[in-house]
Amino acid sequence: MSIYTLNETHAPNLKSWVDSANSETTDFPIQNLPFGSFRLKGSNAPFRGGVAIGDQILDLSKAINAGVFGTDVLPAATAAAEEKLNRFMDMGKDAWSALRLTLSRLLREGALAEDILTSCLVAQSDAEMGNPCHIPDYTDFYASLHHATNIGALFRPNNPLLPNYKWIPIGYHGRASSIGVSGQAFPRPTGQTKAPEAEVPSFGPCKRLDFELEMGAFVGKGNAIGTQVSIEDAEDHLFGMCLFNDWSARDIQGWEYQPLGPFLAKNFASTISPWIITMEALAPFRTSFAHPADDPAPLPYLTSTENSEKGGLDIDLEVLLQTAKMREEGAAPVPLATSNMKYSYWTIAQMLTHHTVGGCNMQAGDLMATGTMSGPDASEACAMIELTTGGKNPIHLPDGETRTFLEDGDTVIIRGACARAGAARIGFGICEGTILPAV
Ligand code: MN
Repeated sequence: MSIYTLNETHAPNLKSWVDSANSETTDFPIQNLPFGSFRLKGSNAPFRGGVAIGDQILDLSKAINAGVFGTDVLPAATAAAEEKLNRFMDMGKDAWSALRLTLSRLLREGALAEDILTSCLVAQSDAEMGNPCHIPDYTDFYASLHHATNIGALFRPNNPLLPNYKWIPIGYHGRASSIGVSGQAFPRPTGQTKAPEAEVPSFGPCKRLDFELEMGAFVGKGNAIGTQVSIEDAEDHLFGMCLFNDWSARDIQGWEYQPLGPFLAKNFASTISPWIITMEALAPFRTSFAHPADDPAPLPYLTSTENSEKGGLDIDLEVLLQTAKMREEGAAPVPLATSNMKYSYWTIAQMLTHHTVGGCNMQAGDLMATGTMSGPDASEACAMIELTTGGKNPIHLPDGETRTFLEDGDTVIIRGACARAGAARIGFGICEGTILPAV
């Protein structure tokens, strides 16, 4: 069995001596313990590894120097304290799990280390977050049947869902260099577009800029080139998850995407939330997985008992918009849509297995995004192109503004959380990005 089973770190009644971790609304109770990379705001110091706990960060380098880690977990703690998590991610499941257990025991109420570790905390409000790891490669899947159908109908009215969709986890190799961490601001992309009625394309700033609410999954331990990660082993290679915004230039996409898929429409910026929620922390929120009865069953290489029993994930998702005007007037961001990871037509394990089945080597830190995670209802459409039916039906905001696509100064915020009876609620923090005027 490769999906984590529940252990003492998941106990719902566990409390921390860090008071803010016991708040009902915190994303980071002691049952979460996500890893990230941070430094003090305004500092030029290198980023370093930390663990979110309530509204604080446990500085792993300081905790190591304070001598709280035994020799059994010291190598893992040392790797997790580095600027990038890749070496820790490459250590594998036993190392990740042992460090999580130690951190849980050190941070829980009554721990002897409280006095020592209090001085190793940094307020999240005083910290600047960096990318948690070096991302060697990034792949974007297309795992929501609802999104694929909605957007397919706009791009190809007569042929929305292509015949391969229900057989293959569809994806394309994306661009890793432009993935930034929450707080990212980037210029509106420029490129070639062609209106259907125009004879020749024009060149200029994108006019149909969009977000895509997705989840990201980080590969931990990789595989050698020429080898496959079987569906039975796939979960052992998954380190954790984040929120992901796959910013998309729809007018550029419409002109360039055939025959080889998105290129400049997707390579200018993508935004991740800064904390990696480990697969072990997500263990209480696994769900059964099956395709609808009338759809083809996945081929045997994408099928396992465990994947059917617990391959899915129940993660509530939400996307919000704050325009420049709203920000100036101090108005709160407005919710645009809610959805859930359970709508994914493929599990993360199936995506990883399919990715490697031809012999592709995955590396520690590789990021697989799910694709826009739209649900079946119109209120669960997770991109502007779906929410506005390709720009035909503008969204009316409470302050009187309207939007078909995103405008300069707009900030898009994605949030996610897991809640279930009998488990402590855990959250993903925030994934926020802002559009600047075109260069
Ligand atoms: Mn996407």
